[in-house]
Amino acid sequence: MSQLAYRRVLLKLSGEALMGDEDYGIDPKVITRLAREVIEAQQAGAEVGVVIGGGNIFRGAGLAAGGMDRVTGDQMGMLATVINALAMQDALEKLGARVRVMSAIKINDVCEDYIRRRAIRHLEKGRIGIFAAGTGNPFFTTDSGAALRAIEIGADLLLKATKVDGVYDKDPKKHADAVRFDSLTYDDVISRDLQVMDTAAFALCRDSDLPLRIFDMSQPGVLLRILKGEAIGTLVRGRTPGH
Ligand code: UDP
Repeated sequence: MSQLAYRRVLLKLSGEALMGDEDYGIDPKVITRLAREVIEAQQAGAEVGVVIGGGNIFRGAGLAAGGMDRVTGDQMGMLATVINALAMQDALEKLGARVRVMSAIKINDVCEDYIRRRAIRHLEKGRIGIFAAGTGNPFFTTDSGAALRAIEIGADLLLKATKVDGVYDKDPKKHADAVRFDSLTYDDVISRDLQVMDTAAFALCRDSDLPLRIFDMSQPGVLLRILKGEAIGTLVRGRTPGH
């Protein structure tokens, strides 16, 4: 149907990406802009799953540092991702998209449970799938949730939107001579000790040979350009040639 380089993708957005210039919560203008990007990609023919973090509301590690039980804190973090998923569902639906939120934690009065076969069916029917509550387990992050869901739904590419336009050899905010990589293998990332994703997420991508693109989503149209095959940001690829 389309000339896209990828048929099915999983987009990971951090909770902080929804805050805009605020310190907390969700900026309606920002979430609407992100929703528009997702719809543009989906209307071009891609099947799009989305995982959103919860760091704009709660993170378990931060709550634990303040004295809270870690598991309870992580559960609060996972519920925060459900809040963000509902906000994204609303933003997408306001723009005319068909959407299903599916949660790894049972919370069926507000959204569906995550069931892999049903998730794939939603995508095939042209619905945008938002996968909430990460992996459903404490001590993980939504990066791991995104890697897991991408593999489960058979995504061709995992897209991680960040504030930086790719992976650098050192922190570009601290070092003016930092060099951005166009592409890396998983082995390169390990041997150079580059902080691309948390280790559990990274291990899942590597073991399943899932290509991962890290990019800055602040430029309008960037998601669709990537899906059309433009090499924006940094690609971390597996063993398979061409991936
Ligand atoms: N979380 C969890 N298990 C998961 C995914 C998330 O316990 O599988 C909790 C964890 O406390 C995490 C919080 O939810 O800090 C929010 O997710 P994350 O930090 O990944 O959000 P982001 O940084 O992407 O906004």
